[in-house]
Amino acid sequence: MKMPVKFKTYCPFCRNHQTHEVEKVKKAKTTGLHWIDRQKARRGAVGNMGKFSKVPGGDKPTKKINVRYRCKTCGKAHLRAGFRAGKFELTE
Ligand SMILES: [Zn+2]
Repeated sequence: MKMPVKFKTYCPFCRNHQTHEVEKVKKAKTTGLHWIDRQKARRGAVGNMGKFSKVPGGDKPTKKINVRYRCKTCGKAHLRAGFRAGKFELTE
């Protein structure tokens, strides 16, 4: 989908419509050290791995996109619920 870089929308800080700039939210990096990873490491790799034997599911055809809306008047940014789109483009 295409989205304009600047458009007027509601700012929850100013409590009215202001010009907003769109920024894509970058995905946070994970360290890969969650309890499930440690549990998997403890199990060893002999025989049936139980729930770890599951075949991982395929990727969804579209990815969820998170966008940050920054108000030009107060400089504060707010988020809205992410949406799914195959391609995401910012247009002038
Ligand atoms: Zn504002």
